[in-house]
Amino acid sequence: MDLGFLLHALIPSWNSVAVLVVFFAYLAIAGSMLPGKLVPGVTLQDGSRLHYRCNGLLALLLLVGLFGVGSKMNLLSPTVISDRGLELLSTTFMFSFLTMVVLYATGCRSQSKGSSLKPHITGNLMHDWWYGIQLNPQFMGIDLKFFFVRAGMMGWLLINLSVLAKNVEDGSLSQSMILYQLFCVLYILDYFVHEEYMTSTWDIIAERVGFMLVFGDLVWIPFTFSIQACNNDLEKKITSNLHHILGWWLLNNKVVLTLAAAIANCFVFLIGYLVFRGANKQKHIFKQNPKALIWGKPPKVIGGKLLASGYWGIARHSNYLGDLLLALSFSLPCGISSPVPYFYPIYLFILLIWRERRDEARCTEKYKDIWAEYCSFVPWRIFPYLY
Ligand code: NDP
Repeated sequence: MDLGFLLHALIPSWNSVAVLVVFFAYLAIAGSMLPGKLVPGVTLQDGSRLHYRCNGLLALLLLVGLFGVGSKMNLLSPTVISDRGLELLSTTFMFSFLTMVVLYATGCRSQSKGSSLKPHITGNLMHDWWYGIQLNPQFMGIDLKFFFVRAGMMGWLLINLSVLAKNVEDGSLSQSMILYQLFCVLYILDYFVHEEYMTSTWDIIAERVGFMLVFGDLVWIPFTFSIQACNNDLEKKITSNLHHILGWWLLNNKVVLTLAAAIANCFVFLIGYLVFRGANKQKHIFKQNPKALIWGKPPKVIGGKLLASGYWGIARHSNYLGDLLLALSFSLPCGISSPVPYFYPIYLFILLIWRERRDEARCTEKYKDIWAEYCSFVPWRIFPYLY
C-alpha cells in the first residue's frame, strides 16, 4: 500500500500534462507580449549581446490574478496543483528530460560559430548532457535560459499558493505557514521586481543550457523549495508512507512558535534580504557605472574592473551569504523538530560552496593578477572571518 501510494502518485496524468502545457503557453505568450524594460545582456565573446524583456513582474501578477479569478469563477480549483503534486513533479521531470534530448540533438547539429549557439562538444556524453553544449539556445524567438528560470520561480509561488489554498480549505492554517508564505512571496516578488539584475548573474552569462540547468529551474526550484509548505499536506502523506517503508520518522507538523522565535525568524529574513539584495544590486550598478557611489562613497575598484567596496569589500560572495540566511528563514517557521524542512538551506549551502569554487576558478582565469589582488584585499569567500 505504502509503496503503491508513492508509485501511483508519481505516474504522470493527462491532467498534469495539461496544467504544465497551459503554464508554459501562458509564460511564452505573456513573456513576448506584455510590456517590459528591454535590458541588454553582457557582451559575449563574439561581441554580440542578447536583449531580455524584463516583464516578469507583470506576467506573475497577471498569472496570480488569473489563477484567483479562475478559482473564484469555479473554472479551476485553487488546489489544482497541491492535489497532484507528485504527478506534476514526475511530469515536469519527464518534460525536462525530453527537452534536454531535443536541445542536445539540435545543439549537436548546429553549424553556428556565434557565442550563443556554437556547440561546445567535449565528446564526453554525460558531461555534455549535464552541462549543456550551447550557451543561449532559443525556441521560436524565446531565450530558453531566461524562460526556464522564470518558470521555476513562478512555479514555486504557484505551488505555495495552492498549498495555502488547501490549508485554508482544511481549516488548518498555522502561524508557521503564514510566515513561510509571507517570506516566499516577498522573495519571489523581489526577484521579479529586480529581474533585470538576473541578466548579469552566472547562470545567464556563463552557464550552458544542460540538464543541470533545465532540471534545476523546472523541477528543483519549484518542487524542493516548497518542501516546507508541503509539510502540512503532501509531505505528510509521503512521510507517513515512507515512515513504514524506510523507517523514516514522521514529521511533527504542529509547530507552535513563540513570539520571540517568530520575531527572530523575521529578523533572519530581513538581514538575509538586505545582504542578498544589497550585494547583488551593488554589483549590478557597478557594472553599469563603475563610478556610482557605494554606501555614499566613491567605490574602491581593483584593476579598474573589480568592486571592492560595500558588500563586495566584506566577502567575495556576500550575496551567497544573504541567500543562505533567506533560505534559513524560510525553514525556521517549521521549528527544529525535523531536518526535512531544512532541505533547501542545506542544499543551497552545498550548492553555493561548490558554485563559489567554480566562480573563483572562472574569475582567476578571467582576471588573473587583478583577481589575486582582490583576494588579498578581501580574503573571505562567503562568511566574513570564517570562510
Ligand atoms: P554572482 O552574481 O555573484 O556572479 C559572479 C560573477 O560576478 C563573477 O563570475 C564575475 O563575473 C562577477 N564578479 C565577481 N566578483 C566581482 C566583483 N568584486 N566586482 C565585480 N564583478 C564581480 O553569482 P551567481 O550568478 O552565482 O549568483 C547570483 C545570485 O543568485 C546570488 O545571490 C545567489 O545566491 C543566487 N543564486 C541562488 C540559487 C538558488 O538556488 N537559490 C542558485 C544560484 C544562485 P564577470 O565576468 O561579469 O566579472
